[in-house]
Amino acid sequence: MSARLVCGQCGGFYGSKVWGSNTKYRRTIWQCNDKFKGEVRCATPHVTEEVKEKFLRAFTSLLEYREKLVENCRLAQKTLCHVKDIEEELEELQQEKEMAAKLVRQAIEENAHRVVDPETWQESYKGYLDRYQQAVEGIDQLERQKKGRKDKNREMERFIKHIEKADETLTDFEEGLWVLIIERVTVLIDGRLMFHFKDGTEVQVHHLEETPFHSIQQKEQVTMQTG
Ligand SMILES: [Zn+2]
Repeated sequence: MSARLVCGQCGGFYGSKVWGSNTKYRRTIWQCNDKFKGEVRCATPHVTEEVKEKFLRAFTSLLEYREKLVENCRLAQKTLCHVKDIEEELEELQQEKEMAAKLVRQAIEENAHRVVDPETWQESYKGYLDRYQQAVEGIDQLERQKKGRKDKNREMERFIKHIEKADETLTDFEEGLWVLIIERVTVLIDGRLMFHFKDGTEVQVHHLEETPFHSIQQKEQVTMQTG
């Protein structure tokens, strides 16, 4: 769980610590890892197992907007995860790479037959090599971008599937669900927890008995502006 808990003051991760390990009051708490390292200690509070209950509260409150949420996710998926433009650029760069390779081969041949002045040859040969290298690097970069978008797409798909079939009456914390749908949780100085879900939705939970505050309404506005 600590892998996703983030300190709202320093941005560092929370780590777990066992309190009263030899007593019957033994329990695990989580606190900012940097809390006691620097000169200025973070004022963010430690959190307890209550995070799990708050997570469930945040999650089930999201389900009240299930349809809207799924709709938003689908839209985000469409705008953020498409790869068509990348594939078109890749095709162009592939052609450029082949062209540059051909020019390099030709130059080597010309040099072997000594048909050109060595100095001029050096210059153009270097130019072709640079073109080739640039194309290779460009392709590399685009492939990484494409992979990133595809990964994001899969992640969103899993998130949507979970939202669609989730049970509103969920009462037990499931580590698997947490891992799949939570990007990170920020602990704020006043003890509020900000749950960042993988689709970009944020839900704030302070006390368990209060209604969680979420940003889904704001997202509707954003959707309307961009659509
Ligand atoms: Zn901190």
